[in-house]
Amino acid sequence: MTTAVYPGSFDPITLGHVDIITRASQLFDTVVMAVVKNPGKQANIRIEKRLKLVEDSVKHLKNVSVEAFEGLTVNLAKAHNAKVIIRGLRAVSDFEYEFAMSQMNKRLCPQVETMFMMAGLEYQFLSSSMTNEVATLGGDIQGLVPEHVRQYLLTQQGGAE
Ligand code: ADP
Repeated sequence: MTTAVYPGSFDPITLGHVDIITRASQLFDTVVMAVVKNPGKQANIRIEKRLKLVEDSVKHLKNVSVEAFEGLTVNLAKAHNAKVIIRGLRAVSDFEYEFAMSQMNKRLCPQVETMFMMAGLEYQFLSSSMTNEVATLGGDIQGLVPEHVRQYLLTQQGGAE
């Protein structure tokens, strides 16, 4: 059994994330999607709601589970006996941060490998933060996030939860 973890803020989950988790679910026996609740990082959407939006986005993927998580990703990986941390890479922008993070994780836990999956072409420039910004300003985010996420963001216009 090969288990992987896919950590992220998912604030909110976008179709770029869904693309990565869908492809990852075909490569590993089990994938744990870990929604980070980091008290030091201001999130737009509260953790319970982010978790629910992620769950509803991946419930059709039978080997994917979703949980909230706080702390070091390598500890999460160890707790699940996972050998792999999955991260998505978009053109240029993600590389430096992701490279540094993977080096640190390797140092903390040499037996856990970070694997990068290239973002789908249509999602290269898609980010949660930009999606939030456009949604808050009343712009059209159809095709950027799952439909239930779009509906939720519509209800939040003028003040995110
Ligand atoms: P974090 O705060 O940990 O970066 P995010 O929710 O922004 O959390 O991203 C989680 C992971 O998904 C990261 O590896 C990020 O690079 C990747 N990711 C973000 N947006 C996309 C996208 N549009 N396509 C593919 N991967 C993405």
